[in-house]
Amino acid sequence: MDFAEQTAGTADDFSFGWELREQTGAVCTVGDAAADAAFVADRPTDAITDILHGLCGLYGPLPGERFFFRSEPVEFRWVLDRQGTDVDISIYLFPDVHGGVGTPDSAGLLVWRSRQARGRFVHAVLDTTEAVLDGEGARPEPAGRRTGPSPLSALVELRRMHRRDDGCGAACRPATPEEHSDGRRRLPHP
Ligand SMILES: [Zn+2]
Repeated sequence: MDFAEQTAGTADDFSFGWELREQTGAVCTVGDAAADAAFVADRPTDAITDILHGLCGLYGPLPGERFFFRSEPVEFRWVLDRQGTDVDISIYLFPDVHGGVGTPDSAGLLVWRSRQARGRFVHAVLDTTEAVLDGEGARPEPAGRRTGPSPLSALVELRRMHRRDDGCGAACRPATPEEHSDGRRRLPHP
């Protein structure tokens, strides 16, 4: 398996890719049978943490989730709306960092939209982010660029809820073979 396969989680017609750039940032790609989109996240660890927390929210009582990827000078707003067991995923471009806060989705430019089964969507994101985080020991993000918590706890929680509620089957990785009884986890490094 080559690197591209490892970091592009694909299930049926949904794909989610994440490629760290040489210096800073990451390129996030999403796609379905109709269209693909790619955009830069300036702070990859924060962005991965935000998407994992957003997907965790799909297993709670709220009808949807919103979060932002910073990509100066612009910002991308992810909007997840639950439709039964499906999720409507919309990604909007806002021309200013923080410019989107408090403004309606319609004020942004819709760059990609897709309806996906929650299980398919979450499975692809989980596989991709686990592959990225497993390999991250080779190139840690500079501490000064980190503003939020580690994504690991959200990753473990999301995998646990996905396996509990989505009926993903035997092909789905266990929540975490490294998880300890106290809930802490260390990702294995090659
Ligand atoms: Zn799965």
